[in-house]
Amino acid sequence: MDQLETYKQQVVAACQVLLERGYLMATGGNVSLRVPEQNRFAITPSNYDYSKMTAGDVCILDLDLNALAGERTPSIESSLHATVYEVRPDVNAVVHTHQVYASALALIDAPIPALFDEQARFLGRTVEIIPYAPSGTGFLKKNIAKRIRNHHNAYILQNHGVLCFGPSMEQAIHNVEILEKCSLAYLLALCTERKVSKIPLMVREIAFSKLRQDQKKVERSEEGDR
Ligand SMILES: [Zn+2]
Repeated sequence: MDQLETYKQQVVAACQVLLERGYLMATGGNVSLRVPEQNRFAITPSNYDYSKMTAGDVCILDLDLNALAGERTPSIESSLHATVYEVRPDVNAVVHTHQVYASALALIDAPIPALFDEQARFLGRTVEIIPYAPSGTGFLKKNIAKRIRNHHNAYILQNHGVLCFGPSMEQAIHNVEILEKCSLAYLLALCTERKVSKIPLMVREIAFSKLRQDQKKVERSEEGDR
């Protein structure tokens, strides 16, 4: 049980950081962390104020969404997190937020092309828009499962918010921050109505191949653990 406690505490700590930095507001969004080797993950509870959350409020679920620990109802978006852990063995942490600038792009159906080196290195070739489906439904789960196979680490959910991944919670939070910076810069650039320049294709591909190398290392270490 001690080991699970560590994962729950990491989820709480992540929520505090995201709350302080303005990425989580009130009860919007949710955060989860994979428990390796056990097909389980720790996830924030449904509709619960992040500023009051303690490790005891965090739920432990298996990938079929059976509750294994925690007294509260798990996030209604738990199925979305489980899908990510099933489809992407390189992902150990998932952060879903309703952060404002990326959400604005979600409203105008504007995927983010490769604008910055750091973006291609950590988020992927582009930031795509995943088509709308209501929260907590099988439709949303299906849309996500289909889109995330391209191994990017950030996606915008149409008329909803964002989904960011990482091999660790620290990297997933960093990816949330990179995404918001790119979103703001892109929105401002679009407002000028001038041509938006992108990084050279070759630079984008080199950066993305480095990301894939990192991901494969994580995949191999997970296989080694089994
Ligand atoms: Zn949401």
